[in-house]
Amino acid sequence: MEKKEFQAESKRLLDLMINSIYTHKEIFLREIISNGSDAVDKLAYKALTDDKVGLNRSDFKITLTVDKDARLLTVSDNGIGMTLEELESNLGTIARSGSLQFKQDMAEAEHKADVDIIGQFGVGFYSAFMVADQITVVTKAYGQEKAYRWESSGADGYTVTECEKDAAGTDVIMHIKEDGEEEQFSQYLDQNRLSRLVKKYSDYVHYPIVMEMTHSRMKDKPEDAPEDYKPEWEDYTEWETLNSMVPLWQRSKGEVEQEEYDAFYQDKFNDYEKPLATVKVNAEGTVSYQALLFLPGRTPYDFYTREYEKGLQLYSSGVLIMDKCPDLVPEYFRFIKGVVDTPDVSLNISREMLQQTRQLKVISSNLEKKVKAELVRLEKDEREKYETFWRAFGTQIKYGVVSEYGTHKDFLAELLMFVSSKESKYATLAEYKERMAEDQPFIYYASGESVEKLSKLPQAERIQDKGYEIFYLTEDVDEFCMQVIGEYEGKKLKSINDNDALPETEEEKKAAEEKAEESKPVLDFVKETLGDKIKEARISKLLKSHAVCMTADGPMSLEMEKHLRRNGGDMGGLTAERVLELNADAPVFTALKNAMENDRALAEKYVQLLYCQALLIADLPLEDPAGYTDLVCSLMK
Ligand code: ADP
Repeated sequence: MEKKEFQAESKRLLDLMINSIYTHKEIFLREIISNGSDAVDKLAYKALTDDKVGLNRSDFKITLTVDKDARLLTVSDNGIGMTLEELESNLGTIARSGSLQFKQDMAEAEHKADVDIIGQFGVGFYSAFMVADQITVVTKAYGQEKAYRWESSGADGYTVTECEKDAAGTDVIMHIKEDGEEEQFSQYLDQNRLSRLVKKYSDYVHYPIVMEMTHSRMKDKPEDAPEDYKPEWEDYTEWETLNSMVPLWQRSKGEVEQEEYDAFYQDKFNDYEKPLATVKVNAEGTVSYQALLFLPGRTPYDFYTREYEKGLQLYSSGVLIMDKCPDLVPEYFRFIKGVVDTPDVSLNISREMLQQTRQLKVISSNLEKKVKAELVRLEKDEREKYETFWRAFGTQIKYGVVSEYGTHKDFLAELLMFVSSKESKYATLAEYKERMAEDQPFIYYASGESVEKLSKLPQAERIQDKGYEIFYLTEDVDEFCMQVIGEYEGKKLKSINDNDALPETEEEKKAAEEKAEESKPVLDFVKETLGDKIKEARISKLLKSHAVCMTADGPMSLEMEKHLRRNGGDMGGLTAERVLELNADAPVFTALKNAMENDRALAEKYVQLLYCQALLIADLPLEDPAGYTDLVCSLMK
């Protein structure tokens, strides 16, 4: 027996491995089971053409054994096994393909999109050293007489000796570390814990993963039991298959009932409600994958918090690689739950590296199209469901339109819905456009606190008189969203506050100009009285029966100002440019004019009053509420 050193590079890598690469130590079990499953795969494949193998497909399995006292966890397979040479080259060298290369690629991976590091290097086996201080591998290659025992307690090297073993296959015997202050390694000797880990990571390995489980049961009551007989319990053991083997997503759509999908979703993603929609994708091409996606029917309680993590479960040929792979879903679809299974990425060694792979980009971009198509289908065919979806996640979509400088606006516009003045129901841009009157120049919107308040806005009157519909925007993000969208199929989106919201004929224009000219002294007086509180006083083209309203010039609307105020406090002096609009046909306008001629002090009071009313209507705070009531009272006297 001779002690051999790991290659120098390997030694350092082993150290790196054990101490840093994997975030979750528990995945060692997945790695060891996957190796066993690969080995079984190889022998099962041989058995197809070689009678001498003498095993049927149903004979293949992976067995877990626990010896708590000796702190041993063993994973055995009846697969292809390893010859002496294979043992040396597979387990004696980490990263057979060249550890130096491995290191280089690892360093570059953060910046390069398409290095396929994963699967290129054999490092999975060594992850067992994260939980074990000694590992023994007993293996016998198929068709060979001799068996070998490989032993190592980490970076200092390994020994190989000949030994006895009946059948082909491999036992990986791990001596589990003693519990430390921070880590309870004993959990890996606990049957229930192991069983849960198998379910979590290896549920879809094609072969049964079995373990002898101990349960307890009530003993039968003896015939001659005394009156005061107390039930007795006994332990018994039973071999159990821990994994379910066939992933739901690998079964064809026809053979799975919707209930099964629903149950899968509820179980896996901890939702007590069924999903609103299920999307199944089976793609073959440059990247092959299967995906099973779900649209939840309600907003997770933490959805709009930092704690919520988006992502899909990523499997490689039935083996879980990452629980929430964020790169598979864009931010605006972060509500999507589901799984993706692709043989084109192999077991990963680290999250950071995985993020770089080109395959994921391809999958992600295909999936987002599928998700969108499903949403569009819901919107058309199952409106109620779509509205449920929209209430739960519409805000996210709107943020998606606004974010990244509007890069995704065209992709997402079709999904948008807002409450419209028509029966106060949700309408999409397409539906709105479809219903537009022939002479209607714009798609209108108004923003404010509630549909109720918006439906009473003075400046909406003329537009509604013409039979034009108005979108009522009640969320902070809405108006930003409209500005980013800009126009829809050739129709501009327009705030009803805009001075040119209703286009005028030449005649109307002329009349308006004359009116403005005529009213100039009044407007000047208003501006003079109010000073910096407003940018301008103007004769309104929007008002009909009401006397005043407040609008804004420039890119920042009053709603945006409110939004920024709520979120940022002082905005470096940035505010909307307020315009006080007056209705020249309203009786109070005449009253103001008369006052100007006869009683300047009274006229000033009128101006203050009108200004305060405009603030109230626009849901803007009065600077001096007490002063305002005093003003009203003094006028009533
Ligand atoms: P990877 O599985 O990514 O190649 P590992 O370090 O996990 O890397 O394993 C290295 C190699 O050792 C495997 O590729 C395989 O050839 C061999 N091996 C590991 N476990 C077994 C096993 N249970 N049976 C047969 N061969 C195995």
